[in-house]
Amino acid sequence: MTAQDNPISESQMAEAFRQRDRSWDGRFVVAVRTTHIYCRPSCPARRPKPENTRFYSSAEAARQAGYRPCKRCRPDDFARDRKAVMDVISWLRDAETAMPLDQLAERTGYSPSHLQKIFKTSIGLSPAAYARALRVERARAELRNGKSVSDAIYAAGFESPSRFYENMDGRLGMTPSIWRKGGEGMTIRWVEAPTTLGPVLIAASEKGVCRVAFNTPPEDLTRLFPKATIVEGDADFADLFQRVVAAVENPGRSHDIPLDVQGTVFQERIWAELCKIPPGETRSYGQLAAASDKPGASRAAGSANGANRIAVLIPCHRVIRADGSIGGYAFGEEIKRELLRRENSAQDDG
Ligand SMILES: [Zn+2]
Repeated sequence: MTAQDNPISESQMAEAFRQRDRSWDGRFVVAVRTTHIYCRPSCPARRPKPENTRFYSSAEAARQAGYRPCKRCRPDDFARDRKAVMDVISWLRDAETAMPLDQLAERTGYSPSHLQKIFKTSIGLSPAAYARALRVERARAELRNGKSVSDAIYAAGFESPSRFYENMDGRLGMTPSIWRKGGEGMTIRWVEAPTTLGPVLIAASEKGVCRVAFNTPPEDLTRLFPKATIVEGDADFADLFQRVVAAVENPGRSHDIPLDVQGTVFQERIWAELCKIPPGETRSYGQLAAASDKPGASRAAGSANGANRIAVLIPCHRVIRADGSIGGYAFGEEIKRELLRRENSAQDDG
């Protein structure tokens, strides 16, 4: 279940606004009675007194109540930007051949440079890099299905074999470190927290939680993000870390913790599917592959599942073998069993 399926509580909205949590942008707006403006939750402006704020589920509702959009965070643009980004993703997914930025921009009604900027901000890649990743992924899928290399190249929408090899160069693994050059320019804060399942390493970037791992030393972060600045978490992160610990202790509850995932397009797709498995339920690797439109790719789904860096919050523990046996888990079967047991008993209680 995703958070979108649930009505958002007043206290969740207040908390998201207090934390300037970007992952809530577009899901509600905050109106300020004293200034008559409304903002997105992440607005950088100084926080008004809580008694002067009112929450609306949409910008439109706030406008109808007589508020004006904030000039600083421009809450109206956000919904429009998000739609443009989602549209571009679906056009790129459906496109048989490459689509130039100009053409994409024209269809969204934005300038090419603005589209490039908003797409990169929300997806982490430019539209062209995203399209390349999709094509590489398709070509690899075709190759797995036994097509010849050049057939696969043309079927995947590359103009010529040389373009294909340019894109494949060094990218066969398409490891996350390529996307962000090993976390260059990122600051990652971490904490080692005790839980009833053992010590948990929790790490977060400015965007969200990027690592949750049982019985893992902090040096692991240097391996995953070799170029990032890695520092111990301070009081600013205490609240986020607390929420992660609560989620680990109660894996059956849905959470709305912002995540900073870094994976290939296919991996991220599998991780998104994992997040849709309701607590207390399990899926097989084959079901996971089928849900991501890649039936038959259960081994690839299994390895994407195994590449998940964010234990519990991305519930890879909900994937078991088709015969019902528990299957593997990066942190040991015992922890996997216990997480599933807690989810089942939470379902029985509620
Ligand atoms: Zn604002």
